[in-house]
Order: sequence, then structure tokens, then C-alpha cells
Amino acid sequence: MRAIYLTKSVDGKTEAVIKKLDPSDLPTFEQNGVTVDIDYSTINYKDGLAITGKSPVVRKFPMVPGIDFCGIVKSSLDARWKNGDKVILNGWGVGESHWGGLAQMACVSGDWLIKKPDSFTPLDCMSIGTAGYTAMLCVMALEKAGVTPQMGEILVTGASGGVGSFAVLLLSKLGYRITASTGKTSQHEYLKSLGAHEVITRESLSEPGKPMQKERWGGVVDSVGSHTLANACASTKYGGVVTACGLAQGMDLPLSVAPFILRGISLIGIDSVMANRAVREAAWKRLADALPTSAISSIVQVVNLENAINEGGRILRGEVRGRVVVDVNT
Ligand code: NDP
Repeated sequence: MRAIYLTKSVDGKTEAVIKKLDPSDLPTFEQNGVTVDIDYSTINYKDGLAITGKSPVVRKFPMVPGIDFCGIVKSSLDARWKNGDKVILNGWGVGESHWGGLAQMACVSGDWLIKKPDSFTPLDCMSIGTAGYTAMLCVMALEKAGVTPQMGEILVTGASGGVGSFAVLLLSKLGYRITASTGKTSQHEYLKSLGAHEVITRESLSEPGKPMQKERWGGVVDSVGSHTLANACASTKYGGVVTACGLAQGMDLPLSVAPFILRGISLIGIDSVMANRAVREAAWKRLADALPTSAISSIVQVVNLENAINEGGRILRGEVRGRVVVDVNT
């Protein structure tokens, strides 16, 4: 089996190569290990961090990165899974603490797998991947907090990225009016084609701003953090809801309490990695119900394992539009 293989050099640098491994090299799980023949994996922002070593998301070396995969069960010690089952994995520390999906095979705990929705192909599933699943978690959190299309515009930041693209697409399918913020002037038409009604520049949100600004957003999906998230909160309408899932601009949050205590806004954190099985299954069911597969293709480019290493650097530089799917068998 071939895999992207990460090692750490003596001077602390992460090195990523394509390596031939023997399936017997895969870590084992005594209780409920499931070995999967992988069809597709993806490059998420976190995979970029792992492959380049820019941030210490990899907890031990050597590591096979890849926080997502879709494939077919080859063998299973877990009674819930059998040879031939079609499965998806997102998160659970795979690609960080456990060998991950940027390989032709993986062995993971059966607790971490969910069944592939019948209406999606393996390529669809990885086109969506952690980014699309996280976007759906944001949408579900907005709905649970009472945000409806009648509450007005929804702001999506980092809109041309993976989470952002799926947030725009999903919210538009659900009837919301979307304003997409992007740093890529070349992607305004792309965002409109996904369903954005208006596109604004990243700079209009990314600089330090006043603690209270003109009320505009009924809800927000933010994958950027830092001043962008602070400005989004400061311009959320009375009773509006902001979901925070990412840190593409930064991990800081230079925010005042004013929008919370004077406008009653809510800020909801979104985590896809350790979300329980019921939440995952609900999110993937909603994705299968909401997304026509024809709508997904414009978001995706497919690369092979060799090119995936390069894509890890590109995603951190904000150069990727939408999603990168990795065909691990080419
Ligand atoms: P992408 O790189 O695909 O998207 C991030 C987008 O953010 C970019 O496309 C760009 O969009 C924008 N961006 C990049 N750099 C900056 C910057 N310096 N300032 C402002 N905006 C910037 O990544 P993903 O969509 O895969 O992930 C987005 C974020 O969400 C990441 O931080 C990731 O770690 C996090 N994440 C969190 C999850 C969770 O469970 N909480 C799950 C998945 C992702 P544009 O050019 O359009 O402005």
C-alpha cells in the first residue's frame, strides 16, 4: 500500500514523502479494529498543517495524515461492520494521533466509522468531507438556535474555502439570503453560482473594528476567527446567532461583550472532530437530503497522492478554491 508518510527531522522539520508500506505496518486495534480499502481522501486545512508541520497537529511520528476517508471494509473485528460495507470516516484524531486516510488502506476503531449514504458516491462523500460536514453542523446549530430565513442575511466568511463553499451552497438550498466574504476577487462569480446573493471583500471584515457596528446579520458561519469573527459578532442583529468553526485568519478573538449584553447575540462553537455518532449521522443524513450531487462538482478538484503533498501547502496559503479530493489509488 502507498501512503503519505510524515516524519520529523532532528531539527524539528516535518518531512512528507510517498512511501510504500506493508498493510501489516498499520496500527491495530485489539477490540474493534476495522481495516478499510480507501477510495478517496481529502486535503482539509488541518491536513495542510500536518503535511507542512506549520502547526503541531500531528501528535506522534511517523504519521500517515488524512482526517477524512471513504472506502470499503476489508476486514473487521467489530460486529457492527463486515467485509464489503461502504464507510466514511471524519476526524476522531485520525491523521493526527492515528494513521489516517492519505493512504490506500487504514485500520481504525469501528466506533469512528459511519455508513456511506446510499445517494452519494465515494467521490461525493469526500468532495463534502470534513468541510461539508462541518458546514452542515454550523447550519444545524443556526437552526437549533432559531435562525430562520426571515431573520435576514447570513454572513459566510472564508467563503471560497471548503467549509465556506459548502455553507453557501447548503444555506442557499435551504432558502437563506447569503452574503459571502472572500479574499479572492476572482471567485465572486463562483460564489454567486453556489447561491451567494452578495459578495463582499475579506478586508471589509478582517481589520480591527468597533465593538458595536451597524446591525446586519441574522446569522453567521465563520471559519476565519480573529478580527473577522469579532467584526461579525459586532454587526450581528439583535438576537442573531454566530457559529465559529475555524481559525484561517487567527486563533485570537479580540471581542467586546457589548453585542452579547446589548443585543443578546449568541456565539456557538462548532467541533466536528469529536462529535458523537448520532450528531454525525444526523449531519450526513441532512447533507444527503439537501445536496443534489450535481451541485457538488463545481466545488471540487481531484488530485493523486503525489500532488496531495503540494496541495497541503496551497491550502494554508489560501490558494485553494472549494475542496481538494485525493484519489489515493492513482
Ligand atoms: P480552506 O483553506 O479551504 O478555507 C479557509 C478560507 O479562509 C480560505 O479559502 C480563505 O477564503 C479564507 N482565509 C484564508 N486565509 C485567511 C486569512 N489570513 N484571513 C482571512 N481569511 C482567510 O479551509 P477549510 O474550509 O477546510 O477550513 C476552514 C477553517 O475551519 C480552518 O481553520 C479549519 O481548521 C477549520 N475547521 C474546523 C473544523 C471544526 O470541526 N471546528 C472542521 C473543519 C475545518 P477566501 O479567500 O474566500 O477569503
